Amino acid sequence: MTRSFPAGAQSSSGSSSSSDSPLPPVRQPLSSGPGRAVVTGGAGFIGSHLVELLLQGDYSVHVVDDLSTGKLANLAAVKDHPRLTVTIASVADADVAQRTVADADIVFHLAGVVGVRRLAEEPLAVMQANLHSTESMLRACSLKGVAVLVTSSSEVYGDGPVPFVEGSPVRPGSTEGLRGGYACAKAMGEWLASAYAEQNKLPVVVARLFNTVGPRQTGDHGMVLPRFVQQALRGEPMTVYGGGQQTRCFAHVRDVARALLGLATSATVPGRVVNVGSAMETPVRTLAEMVRDAADSSSSIRNVPFGDVFPEGFVDPPRRVPSLERLLAANGWLPQTPLDAIVAELVELARSCAVRSETRLEVEAESGALRS
Ligand code: UDP
Repeated sequence: MTRSFPAGAQSSSGSSSSSDSPLPPVRQPLSSGPGRAVVTGGAGFIGSHLVELLLQGDYSVHVVDDLSTGKLANLAAVKDHPRLTVTIASVADADVAQRTVADADIVFHLAGVVGVRRLAEEPLAVMQANLHSTESMLRACSLKGVAVLVTSSSEVYGDGPVPFVEGSPVRPGSTEGLRGGYACAKAMGEWLASAYAEQNKLPVVVARLFNTVGPRQTGDHGMVLPRFVQQALRGEPMTVYGGGQQTRCFAHVRDVARALLGLATSATVPGRVVNVGSAMETPVRTLAEMVRDAADSSSSIRNVPFGDVFPEGFVDPPRRVPSLERLLAANGWLPQTPLDAIVAELVELARSCAVRSETRLEVEAESGALRS
């Protein structure tokens, strides 16, 4: 499944011409149908679902992932697929980025580092990885004239008024607080995308992702739903930060992957930013109760003060709700897997994983593998 770059791939090439004239309305979709797709971050949570969808849709898929947050296990279901290749490398490296796009018809740029906890612990790595990988991929795509869908984040809206509309000013927050650094890196990636579209006529779409949940997401870096599922199944207290009145809209990752492919094949969005997510708003406290009920758990729900988990200056947006008008206009449908169905699926999945790993431990113990 893994490979090196194609022989003879150019590490640099002539730049496409720049122009002072304003960008005309582009009416060509980024992708007119199955072709050669690159997915950066394709071994990640969202990326791996997109890879599966593209393969189902007859695309050839080249995953480029440095495995800093993704893992090859996420691609287990498709690892032997004849149209999948995987390169383990970082697209923040300009040479890697240029080789990556050399034989591509379209790039889905998902590589990035997410997770509020990770941002609190390793702010430099998070900001630099996000900024540099996007800059590097945009430059490479522009040099080759390869269309690119860039994923950004609803973090750019900060704690602004809802619903969040794409054209409104971004609000990353104070530079003395770290959370805004991630938002700002993502926003800068969006501005670079706009600049490449304007100046070099790069076909580009920016997808601003809202809270996405589903199979393969881990709670290791703070994501709330997988944490609640684990806590409920283990009978541990469920950690609701603050009072739990803050709301989020949770979209199923398979819906999000389908929306990203829809944006790539839509003629209405090139050159634009589009919110991608669900608009069904749920308070975090309600989410905890839903998970506890679905897991039939006796866990308590514990309110944890924000100050106990986040560094000073970390703002937890009280509400995060997208306007989905552009997405609807582009795709003709919206992510709408109901949250109770998502929660039920994830509880079931976590239960069956727990049973499988217990069975494995028992088998290993019986065969003596665990005896010291
Ligand atoms: N959260 C929580 N308990 C946890 C983890 C997160 O109450 O164990 C809250 C968090 O403060 C935020 C919401 O759940 O209000 C969603 O957090 P997540 O990290 O999943 O995504 P975010 O929207 O912060 O990017």
